[in-house]
Amino acid sequence: MKEFLNEVDKLDIGKIVKDVFISKYTTYKVGGLVRAIIYPKNTDKLVLLCKLIKKYNIKYKILGNGSNLLFSDKTYEGVLIKLDEFNKIEFFDNKIVCGAGASLMKVARESIKRGLAGLEFATGIPGTIGGAVYMNAGAYKSDMGYVTRSVKVLTDDFKIITLTNEEMDFHYRSSFLQHHPNYICLEATIRLEKGDKNALEEVVKDRKQRRMKSQPLNYPSAGSVFRNPPNADPSGKLIEDIGLKGLTKGGAEVSEVHANFIINKNNASAKDIHDLILFVKDAVKDHYGIDLRIEQEFVNWE
Ligand SMILES: Cc1cc2nc3c(=O)[nH]c(=O)nc-3n(C[C@H](O)[C@H](O)[C@H](O)COP(=O)(O)OP(=O)(O)OC[C@H]3O[C@@H](n4cnc5c(N)ncnc54)[C@H](O)[C@@H]3O)c2cc1C
Repeated sequence: MKEFLNEVDKLDIGKIVKDVFISKYTTYKVGGLVRAIIYPKNTDKLVLLCKLIKKYNIKYKILGNGSNLLFSDKTYEGVLIKLDEFNKIEFFDNKIVCGAGASLMKVARESIKRGLAGLEFATGIPGTIGGAVYMNAGAYKSDMGYVTRSVKVLTDDFKIITLTNEEMDFHYRSSFLQHHPNYICLEATIRLEKGDKNALEEVVKDRKQRRMKSQPLNYPSAGSVFRNPPNADPSGKLIEDIGLKGLTKGGAEVSEVHANFIINKNNASAKDIHDLILFVKDAVKDHYGIDLRIEQEFVNWE
């Protein structure tokens, strides 16, 4: 690892932050040490970095805004790559080209300011464009799949290719990238419709008020824990109806406000959150026979 990091430094790939707690970079505010977080300056440097990772056989992961991840408390013996420098947002009439590190909320807000419709669902989703495309993030019966025309990716053999919307194979909280975890999203092209700026702003204001009331936004979380199961009530209702709201493990709690959120109420460890998620999953299985799918990604638990 030392030799690898020296070479990253020598090649001027970008900022390196060493031996830092992942809890600073995740919305759950949990997670152990990581050997380094690297911020490549541009695509060429990212390609160089990926080649070095391969040469030294280093474990790695792309970290967006950490808003859908549950890292364990143990040290991640690898590196995280953050694409903060890939944050360009360019508008061409109703087409937007956004870097993978750009904030989804910012892209949505800027679009609405220009009277462009289609990203209203995204104004409350605290992810990056890369993380949103990977997850096919969505809300209010819409998602990235409805608005994304194409995605530029770096493949695992260091080629830069563009995948069409069809090739991205977007489904409910699922995309092509989840089945190709070594591909890196560099950029997404989004196409929106012309709309009425004031009407769009009203929709967003109304939804914001609803979110503030219905979600525990004053505590660290990673949004919905479980996907909604097909042909059944939403996960939150299933959990609430078996009386699990307010249940705690250590500092983690099934939110009193929304049962599909687990919050870091009081200095929870990653293990507290992990154990509570699995407890709720088992309880729902026992009670209804429904095997809920976890929407959040567990990292470094093996
Ligand atoms: C308060 C709150 C509310 C939320 N509400 C919603 C909601 O309404 N709808 C919804 O869908 N989600 C919601 N989420 C969850 C989360 O914001 C989304 O899943 C978001 O898309 C994750 O983006 P991220 O940048 O944080 O990705 P991360 O959590 O950092 O990463 C998620 C995955 O994407 C991968 N990834 C990230 N960037 C790239 C890239 N450039 N190339 C390849 N892979 C990449 C990571 O390796 C990881 O596997 C919410 C979260 C919170 C905290």
